[in-house]
Amino acid sequence: MGKCSKDKRDIYYRKAKEEGWRARSAFKLLQLDSEFHFLENVTRVVDLCAAPGSWSQVLSRKLTENGSDATIVSVDLQPIAPLPGVITLQADITHPSTLTNIRKLFGGGLADFVCSDGAPDVTGLHDLDEYIQGQLLLSALTLATNLLKEGGTFVAKIFRGRDVDLLYSQMSLLFDTVTCAKPRSSRASSLEAFIVCEGYRPRPGWQPDSLRLKDIAVPKNLDHFASEAGERTVAPFIACGDLSEYDADATYSLEHGVANVSLDPVQSPTAPPYKRALEMKRNGTLR
Ligand code: SAM
Repeated sequence: MGKCSKDKRDIYYRKAKEEGWRARSAFKLLQLDSEFHFLENVTRVVDLCAAPGSWSQVLSRKLTENGSDATIVSVDLQPIAPLPGVITLQADITHPSTLTNIRKLFGGGLADFVCSDGAPDVTGLHDLDEYIQGQLLLSALTLATNLLKEGGTFVAKIFRGRDVDLLYSQMSLLFDTVTCAKPRSSRASSLEAFIVCEGYRPRPGWQPDSLRLKDIAVPKNLDHFASEAGERTVAPFIACGDLSEYDADATYSLEHGVANVSLDPVQSPTAPPYKRALEMKRNGTLR
């Protein structure tokens, strides 16, 4: 399958290249923000699992457009090519040292907004993939609860699986409102959605590190929350993005005259698995 056919199959993939976004995911954050306006009046943000950096591009454009002095810290296992106004950190969000390193970059201050678009490399073993995704979300939430100021917002990718209602009820213990949102650029055929948690309001006695306790879902010092956390909640579900916008599952014909023009990616992969082969080809040692 050539690049053109993917352009044609996936309108957001093509639009991303036309508009200079590093990935089609940019539209997900833009459509979420058009519904929730969570990027208004924020100046300190953390973008977790950020490579290749299209969410960071959105943050950079939105937060620095009025010349405001924003701090944007973007973290990923993969190196992120430089972006204006963005501090990049190559790190594993599940590792405890990552929190210390982000804190250093923030000079001890707190964040207004933390987001995570984290997704592991899928193995195809459904239970394992679901477990790893759950661990990524838990790590993102641990970082968010350590970094957010009161009233701050946390947005994260989720997959609406078996226990998603339990997740909503647990998030509701920490945030004023929890909404499950599906941007139009996220394929309807995928279980992907985004949890939008607004108004970070940790209860007295809440210890963010309690989230790391392995043996119990609700920390012992917060026993009185246990029954609430055990109750399953149905979070409001919002589809966002205008109905007139492109449907991520549809195939669109390319505009007349440009059918054979395939655009190059805005940012080539920084550390692809075939990087060594490319280097060997360049220096003539590939046989
Ligand atoms: N939001 C990004 C954008 O707009 O360009 C796309 C993110 S991509 C869907 C998921 C990212 O999660 C990958 O770049 C991957 O390297 C990252 N990731 C997966 N596990 C991670 C971990 N433990 N720590 C940090 N990043 C991780």
